[in-house]
Amino acid sequence: MSKTFPVDNGMPSFWRSQPDPLDNHRSTETLPETSDIVIIGAGFAGASTAYHCLDQSNDSTKPSIMVLEARQACSGATGRNGGHLKPDLYNSIGDWAAEYGVEAAAEVAAFEMQNLEALESLIEAKKIDCDLELSEVFDVHLDNDYCAKVKARYETLIASGFDISKKVQFSPQEAAEAVSGVKGAKGCFSSRTGRLWPYKLVMQLLKQAISAGANLQTNTPVLSVSESPNDDGRWTVTTSRGSILAKWVVFASNAYTSAIAPEYKDRIVPVRGICSHIAIPNPPTTPIRSSYTLRSKSWDYDYLIPRPDGSIVVGGAKSTYLSNTENWYDNTDDSRLIDSAAAYFNDYMQRNFHGWENTGANADHVWTGIMGFTPDSLPHVGHIPNKQGQLVIAGFNGHGMPQVFLCARGISRMIVDGAKYEDTGLPKLFQTTPKRLERLMDVRQAMAE
Ligand SMILES: Cc1cc2nc3c(=O)[nH]c(=O)nc-3n(C[C@H](O)[C@H](O)[C@H](O)COP(=O)(O)OP(=O)(O)OC[C@H]3O[C@@H](n4cnc5c(N)ncnc54)[C@H](O)[C@@H]3O)c2cc1C
Repeated sequence: MSKTFPVDNGMPSFWRSQPDPLDNHRSTETLPETSDIVIIGAGFAGASTAYHCLDQSNDSTKPSIMVLEARQACSGATGRNGGHLKPDLYNSIGDWAAEYGVEAAAEVAAFEMQNLEALESLIEAKKIDCDLELSEVFDVHLDNDYCAKVKARYETLIASGFDISKKVQFSPQEAAEAVSGVKGAKGCFSSRTGRLWPYKLVMQLLKQAISAGANLQTNTPVLSVSESPNDDGRWTVTTSRGSILAKWVVFASNAYTSAIAPEYKDRIVPVRGICSHIAIPNPPTTPIRSSYTLRSKSWDYDYLIPRPDGSIVVGGAKSTYLSNTENWYDNTDDSRLIDSAAAYFNDYMQRNFHGWENTGANADHVWTGIMGFTPDSLPHVGHIPNKQGQLVIAGFNGHGMPQVFLCARGISRMIVDGAKYEDTGLPKLFQTTPKRLERLMDVRQAMAE
């Protein structure tokens, strides 16, 4: 097996500590021989694609849908992330504006806000219990030079008439520490964000899809997908439990996509990250109500959300392991911790936040997860070039939560309504194209930025 398949024994995460009855679900004992749509992966992207395909079809035209998952449902990045649902209104957006123009970057920022709003509406309408909270997020900079670089980009965005960045406020060094409560803050951006329990959201999307007719098969890795269709235009999807013929195949396999879709080799690269849950025996007098990112460099940052019970989820620790690329780059091993990062979160709150010195805050869960990184930091969405009927929704670069849900709606419009990419509401920059597939990952350059 290629080393980019999911490993068998992913370690537990805080989010997966209360397994849902669907965790190891198989809708049928054996696999059907055919299915209109086969979705590979039961994370946020796979569950959302199944949900939207069925939501957009009426009863007489409902397609048959199989969701094939290598391990337990939602056991990939979505079940192991930081729970941040944070639209980016100025940060990577500033890079993309410089490279692709303000209009293309603005489309991405607006799309991420739409994702937050769409999830807010869905969660309210369907009464999905997933601890969604909306609040302010502080992007706190700890390095003067990097802060100045980001601020200059942010000012360029505003000067170019980029309205959405006006929803971001900046506090300079004199105010940043008091505004954010973070020790040594050199500057601080703030904007609106969401946070939630990602596993619970995905399990409820899967539940809705199954009650609308989808067939979920967990513990069923897809081993290969044929390179060309048969005479009926169907693709052969080979799994550990037999083969299925499908008219449409959707790769919602994120970090692991290149194991079964060779065109994504070195274009979607597995990158290992680490995250923790912090328990607080003696809560501080002023608990944290906002979410945070603490940034030192573009690739070196921590992200943090408070939970409704006052505990904290914090991920990052990149300064402890980035210099050893084998620890994280092209690495799918979420069965164990990154040794050099394991203790990083223990006194994290005491080290970084005023007023937390006597709280005894300590990590009671630490886990790893695998993200899908792309050379241009943009996801791949849409029809796979030269493979009519195969689509991809993958490569979310550690930032899928404010992108995936409406990317899946776009994918389902292409399948169910036959819509063209341009008519789906998806950002131009997300489209998977032959040109984007020419670009290879240069990890050293990315780390130097
Ligand atoms: C430690 C960590 C922290 C993160 N924090 C955040 C955050 O705070 N905010 C944010 O926006 N994003 C965050 N992310 C990224 C975010 O989790 C992802 O972008 C998002 O979950 C991607 O969803 P997905 O469905 O595409 O991928 P996944 O959840 O990884 O789902 C892909 C699924 O496909 C399955 N699969 C793969 N190959 C096969 C195969 N051959 N056969 C069958 N099944 C297969 C996998 O087992 C997996 O379940 C973080 C990620 C990690 C790892």
